[in-house]
Amino acid sequence: MQMETNFGYIDENYKRILYEIGEAKAKYRKPDEQITFMAVTKTVAPEAVNHAIDCGISVLGENRVQEYLSKKELYSQSAQVHFIGHLQTNKVKYIIEDMALIHSVDSIKLAAEIDRHAARIGKIQDILIEVNVGEEDSKSGIPPKHVRPLLQEIAILPNIRVKGLMTIPPAGNSEKFLYQMQQLYLDISAEKLDNIDMEVLSMGMSGDYMTAIRYGSTLVRIGSALFGARHYT
Ligand SMILES: *Cc1c(COP(=O)(O)O)cnc(C)c1O
Repeated sequence: MQMETNFGYIDENYKRILYEIGEAKAKYRKPDEQITFMAVTKTVAPEAVNHAIDCGISVLGENRVQEYLSKKELYSQSAQVHFIGHLQTNKVKYIIEDMALIHSVDSIKLAAEIDRHAARIGKIQDILIEVNVGEEDSKSGIPPKHVRPLLQEIAILPNIRVKGLMTIPPAGNSEKFLYQMQQLYLDISAEKLDNIDMEVLSMGMSGDYMTAIRYGSTLVRIGSALFGARHYT
């Protein structure tokens, strides 16, 4: 049976978001700065994800190990894959080969496990530190004041390279938290810590990507604005 699938809404959404990213960039950022538009794939059918790749998406964001493993064979191979969800140490081994960047490192225990598996497969794994900028009990990530101590511990792990910071700010009034993240990112960049590069500031989702770009985001993670509202089963 032939499946009729109309992904025209993805084309429309993709074009609108790309346009808005361009507007925010023109208004707030330097012309040579690059902003990556990641497509967040949780609950989205692989065919829809591939359609987004055909539109021009080059980075996918994966939240759940099990869901990723069940979909990966069906994805077009042309996009990079990043892990953005909470990662349990015992699941690192299932995904490490595929991930260009892991955004959600929030403990030395997790970093050490990533380092161990990266060494095993002969890889230097790029990671971001996830910051719980609103210090909310419900969220993963570490409070801003714990970022430097964790960076110092991670800096000595040979198979990990820290590339920057990631955050999910509190819902609603995220602006002051996005500003706070920008300050933290710029301060750490200026300190020029050994073995720490600050190249990626991963923040901004469907509801706040324009504001996130204003405050220095280099990578926005977009799910529902691109694929439509999620339906959990
Ligand atoms: C789901 C998710 C997103 C995308 O959220 P939307 O509001 O649907 O754009 C971004 N980042 C993370 C870590 C997520 O889990």
